[in-house]
Order: sequence, then structure tokens, then C-alpha cells
Amino acid sequence: MNSKEIRKAFVDFFAGKGHQIVASAPMVVKNDPTLMFTNAGMNQFKDIFLGNQPAKYVRVADTQKCLRVSGKHNDLEEVGHDTYHHTMFEMLGNWSFGDYFKEDAINWAWELLHDVLKIPADRMYASVFEGSADDKLERDDEAFELWRKFLPAHQIINGSKKDNFWEMGDTGPCGPCSEIHVDLRDDAERAKIPGQNLVNKDNPLVIEIWNLVFIQFNRKADGKLEELPDKHVDTGMGFERLCMVLQGKKSNYDTDVFQNTIAKIAELSNKKYGDDQKADVAMRVIADHLRAISFSIADGQLPSNNKAGYVIRRILRRAVRYGYTFLDFREPFICKLVEVLKENMGDAFPELVSQQGLIENVIREEEESFLRTLETGIRLLDDLVAKAKAAGKTEISGDNAFTLYDTFGFPFDLTSLILREKGLTVDEAGFNAEMEKQKERSRNAAAQETDDWVELMKIEQVEFVGYDHLEAEVHISRYRKV
Ligand code: ATP
Ligand code: MG
Ligand code: MG
Ligand code: MG
Repeated sequence: MNSKEIRKAFVDFFAGKGHQIVASAPMVVKNDPTLMFTNAGMNQFKDIFLGNQPAKYVRVADTQKCLRVSGKHNDLEEVGHDTYHHTMFEMLGNWSFGDYFKEDAINWAWELLHDVLKIPADRMYASVFEGSADDKLERDDEAFELWRKFLPAHQIINGSKKDNFWEMGDTGPCGPCSEIHVDLRDDAERAKIPGQNLVNKDNPLVIEIWNLVFIQFNRKADGKLEELPDKHVDTGMGFERLCMVLQGKKSNYDTDVFQNTIAKIAELSNKKYGDDQKADVAMRVIADHLRAISFSIADGQLPSNNKAGYVIRRILRRAVRYGYTFLDFREPFICKLVEVLKENMGDAFPELVSQQGLIENVIREEEESFLRTLETGIRLLDDLVAKAKAAGKTEISGDNAFTLYDTFGFPFDLTSLILREKGLTVDEAGFNAEMEKQKERSRNAAAQETDDWVELMKIEQVEFVGYDHLEAEVHISRYRKV
């Protein structure tokens, strides 16, 4: 099955079970101070779960564009290094709002994966919530018994509160969940340890594909749980991972979701995918980030210097850096991949077709400007290297590296990488000390001001230390007066 058929099989299956098929919500979230990007299929139904809004349909299914680069779910550092976490991915989901519950949710998940899509039973594992003394909750025996109809006991695994109990926040709707993991190890590998029960955390080739959440309780302000009168189901399945399983691959990037893009990157860089580990990581990073950037622009979020726009700019620059460093790109290249992405995904997401021109232009301009930054930085760094060598030194000072970073926007990790290639080092502790001094300076400056605009300035100048940090900063901004 190709990816288009797989997406359709999911949607058709749940339509056949009386579900209303709805459109993906935008990936970029507007008007919600707690969230910049959609990170799960349930986001668009949050108000139904909170009881703020009645459900229009009691059974719903869809594929949702998600982005996990900030806040609670930040997979950015995994992307490209493992082969099954993306920044942007599609989450297939089905929901019951006070309608069916555990039994149908589990039966249908099994029917779809096993009967329709033909994943062999002996390759599937299900996890069930093991219970929690704090919450006076027993193991989810109900889910265990439902899985027992399909799976032997050794393929059903107890999971902790962290993995198998979902909560929206400190209070509100919550409940146990059951995940489905698929064993992609070779037969020979499996034969070595027969009867073993595994989930993803035990072996990276046992992949979590689907999470079924049973929203059964409400957590009250005092921390106690009360049973909900109307119970809900909220499920999410990684579309690219499902494609990997069904297409017999061990990497999402080997499926038809990514293959054409990887082939195009290989062609443009004149390198073969699979030849060199670092180049491979770079190709995967670029193929992944292309999607995050393109969908974001199509949703109206352009790269910029603050908030969501800054996150997108950083993702784009990350892709440029991988291309520059490991694939020798010196001219804009990401913009040339948009055409392939449109061919792959334009059917399911027509915004890629209607916005293609805009997406390409915005990406090209960003690439040109960042490539200029890189060129300038490298020239300056070459000068520093020459001077150091002439003086018989092997280390560049933290102060110099900080100037490159702070004044010229040249990333520190690139500085150390280039120096390493030239047989030199950089004083990292010195660099960090300069960074701290600068943070202190901006804290002091901010402390003296009371005007709300200062908060905004602070955000724009904030040094980038990670998306979580950025999101915390962004949250400050919602208190400013406009
Ligand atoms: P993982 O443990 O692999 O990080 P998760 O438990 O964080 O996944 P959920 O929040 O349960 O994921 O999301 C539901 C499903 O979405 C997962 O079972 C998985 O198939 C898919 N998924 C989650 N994160 C990603 C990602 N970064 N890229 C691709 N698919 C993902
Ligand atoms: Mg995760
Ligand atoms: Mg998980
Ligand atoms: Mg999960």
C-alpha cells in the first residue's frame, strides 16, 4: 500500500464505523496563549473535553498536522538521528465524545491493524496502565481483558503513569491509556529472545504506533480523581510510522512519504543516501524540516524574529546548517524541494498546492540571507584561525567565538565544528561565561524598565538556548499591553 492508500484506509475504516471525518486543524495555533503549534489530534477538541463546548458529532476521525518542537513535546533533537520522530507529522485519530468507550476503541484498533491492514498478531504488543497508589488506582484490568481476546498475556505489558496515564494539565479530564507497539526486528533477532515482551523503551525497533486514551476521570483542584459521567476516547496514531510498518521498512524515511524528497536531496547534493552516516542524518533532517517549514508557511506563519515565527526560522536555519556542513550546499536548496513535497502531499493537503509559490519564495529568501551570514562568519573565522596559527596557538578564545555569535549571528556549534576540522579548539567555558554576562546585562536592563514594550524587546533579543526556553519567554509576552 502506498501512503495515500494507507491514509484513506484509516479514514474509510472509521467512516464505516459511523465517524464524521473532519479536516485537520491548522498546525499553527492562533489565539491560544498556552500553545504555539498543534501537537496532537485532540487539540482542536480541547473545549469539548473541558465541557466548554458541546460536541457537534459524537464520533469523529481525521488526520491532523502536528508539530513537536516546543513545550511538553519537543522531539527536535531526535529528528534525523533516530528514524521515527519528526518535527511535523500526521497524527491519525478517532474520537468518541461521550459515546463508545474502551471496548469499541480496542476492538476497532485491532480490527483495523490486524484484520484490515494485516499486521501479524505476533508482532504486536499492547501496554496497559499498571495503576498508581497515589491515585488509589488499580491496574487497568478492563483494558487487559479486552486485549487478551487478541493477544497472549506476554504481549500485554504494564506501563507506568508517565507513559500510560494521560492528563491535560494539573486539573481536568484524564485517564489511562493503552499503546500499541510493533516489533520490527528481524526474525533471527527475535528468535534469540523468544517470548520476550517489549515496548519501544526496551528496543528502538519496537515502535510505538498508536495511543488509545480513555478519558475516564476528572482531576479536581485537590488532586483527587472523580469518575466522569460522560467518558471519552481520544486516539492518536503516527501516520509515517504506520506507513513504515505496512511497507516493511525500518525507517520512516524509507517509505514513500519521504523517499522522493530524499532522492531529490541526493540529486541536488550529488551524494548517495546510505553512503555516509553524517550525510544521511543531514538528508533526513532536511527532508523532515522541509515539511515543518512548508506547512507552517502554508498556514500563514512566516519565519520572523519572535514567537512561532522565530521557531520556524530556527528550524529552517537548522536545515540550512545541516545542508551547508554535511552536504556542501552553498546556494539555496530547500526551496527546490517544495515541488516534490507538493507532489507527495498536495492531494491530502491542498494548501501546499495553492501556496506553493509563496512557500518557495519565503524559503528562498530566508536561505539566501542565512547563507550570507554563514559566509561572513566563516571568513571571519578563517582570519581568526590564521592569526592563531601565526601566534602558535591552538585555541580560539571564548570572547572571539562570542563576538561571532552575538554580532554576526554565527552559531557556536558551527564554530567549534569548523575549528575541529582545522585541528583547533575553542574555549567553550569562556564562551559560556560571555553568554552568561550578556544574559545578566539584559536582565539588569529589563529590571530597570517597567514599560510593557520592554518585555517584547527582551523576547526579540533573547538568546536562543532551546525551544522550551523560548516558549517560556513567549509566555511572558502575552501579558504585555498592546
Ligand atoms: P514517542 O514515545 O515515540 O515519543 P509519544 O508517546 O510521545 O511517542 P503520543 O503523544 O502518544 O506519542 O502520540 C501518539 C502517536 O503519535 C504516537 O504513538 C506516535 O505514533 C506518533 N508520534 C508521536 N510523536 C511523534 C513524532 N515526533 N514524529 C512522528 N510520530 C510521532
Ligand atoms: Mg514523545
Ligand atoms: Mg511514548
Ligand atoms: Mg504515547
